[in-house]
Amino acid sequence: MSKKAFLSLQQAEDIAKQYPTPWHIYHEAGIRENAERVRQAFSWNPGFREYFAVKATPNPFLLNILKEYGFGVDCASETELMLSEACGFSGREIMFSSNDTPPEEFAYADRLGAIINLDDITHIDCVEQVLGRLPEVMSCRYNPGGVFELSNGIMDNPGDSKYGMTPAQVTEAYRRMMQKGVKQFGLHAFLASNTVTNEYYPKLAGILFREAVRLRRETGADIRFINLSGGVGIPYRPEETANDIFVIADGVRKVYEEILVPAGMGDIAIYAEMGRFMMGPYGALVTRAIHEKHIYKEYIGTDACACDLMRPAMYGAYHHITVLGKEDWKRDHRYDITGSLCENNDKFAVDRMLPRIDMGDYLLVHDTGAHGYSMGYNYNGRLKSAELLLKPDGSVQLIRRAETAKDYFATFDFCDLLKGD
Ligand SMILES: *Cc1c(COP(=O)(O)O)cnc(C)c1O
Repeated sequence: MSKKAFLSLQQAEDIAKQYPTPWHIYHEAGIRENAERVRQAFSWNPGFREYFAVKATPNPFLLNILKEYGFGVDCASETELMLSEACGFSGREIMFSSNDTPPEEFAYADRLGAIINLDDITHIDCVEQVLGRLPEVMSCRYNPGGVFELSNGIMDNPGDSKYGMTPAQVTEAYRRMMQKGVKQFGLHAFLASNTVTNEYYPKLAGILFREAVRLRRETGADIRFINLSGGVGIPYRPEETANDIFVIADGVRKVYEEILVPAGMGDIAIYAEMGRFMMGPYGALVTRAIHEKHIYKEYIGTDACACDLMRPAMYGAYHHITVLGKEDWKRDHRYDITGSLCENNDKFAVDRMLPRIDMGDYLLVHDTGAHGYSMGYNYNGRLKSAELLLKPDGSVQLIRRAETAKDYFATFDFCDLLKGD
């Protein structure tokens, strides 16, 4: 099986004349088609809303595209809230799913009218202290503990994760918040990440729907929405099969009709906070080969590094690589593809079979549209790359310029340093 790049060598060469590599580039047509599929797939649920997880790709141009589809934003920090406010998101279009939250950020979220999704029962008092009251709508993050397993072997370990409340705590939190005047409730959980299977959301929905029925029975809380959060995966590897959002949404509908409708809770809205699934496949990092090195292994050095894409270094994550213009060549060379950091894990690929790479070749690193640019950092004083948008008409728009040394030094005051002695 193969993975097709959304950019040709000719396009990359043309773009590089104006914007030197490396850069992340996003495929607007792909983002739009996928967003439309998500909207249609969940149209059976009139209250459905996708809250795009801003941390995945915090770029206002991309957020504004998603906004056209009626989607909201999921934020977890002050600057993510600021970005969302600047893009015109407000009120219940904003979900604040933070954890270990600085108290003043609850106040900011509340000023925007965002829905606060509480990570912990002790945060009830924290919110009440900073606001002087509780908002009318509150959501709670649920953690069932134990191990969460899907039939294809995907496993995650909620019992070992820092997020959410135990079932007993959610019950207690709902009761306490009702006493303090909260009128409407939501329930949220994130139990597994990058699930490349159509089974995850339906299984999670079953767990949350049953929990909602129990909470309703035990507390009488008016539950208005259930938030399936993120975790829907994408096929980073060519041999993986992409999720089908229509199958996923239909699976959620079935458990909704099985569990919620008979319980008289058939008016509950389904929310999602997908990041990776909305944007991951529609972004790529384009970098050029600038060195080759022949020691105990064969290395190709690129003009990008882990500061542009951290996932391989951080998780050992696989990102497919296409050598542009050599799509049909035999993959008969074994390479480590490296960046320039003084860290031996700064490798986009290890022992990867690729066509022969010549100096100056354009390498397209696939699936960097989510948790790519945004995880970047500045180790070794490396500057973060630009972000470009490939528009449906083939033109290219700069949607974030590359960092300059001035940006890197912006947090020093050189005048003070020089005057110091
Ligand atoms: C990271 C995150 C998401 C998005 O996760 P994806 O894996 O990108 O879908 C959604 N909700 C919360 C609370 C998150 O922390």
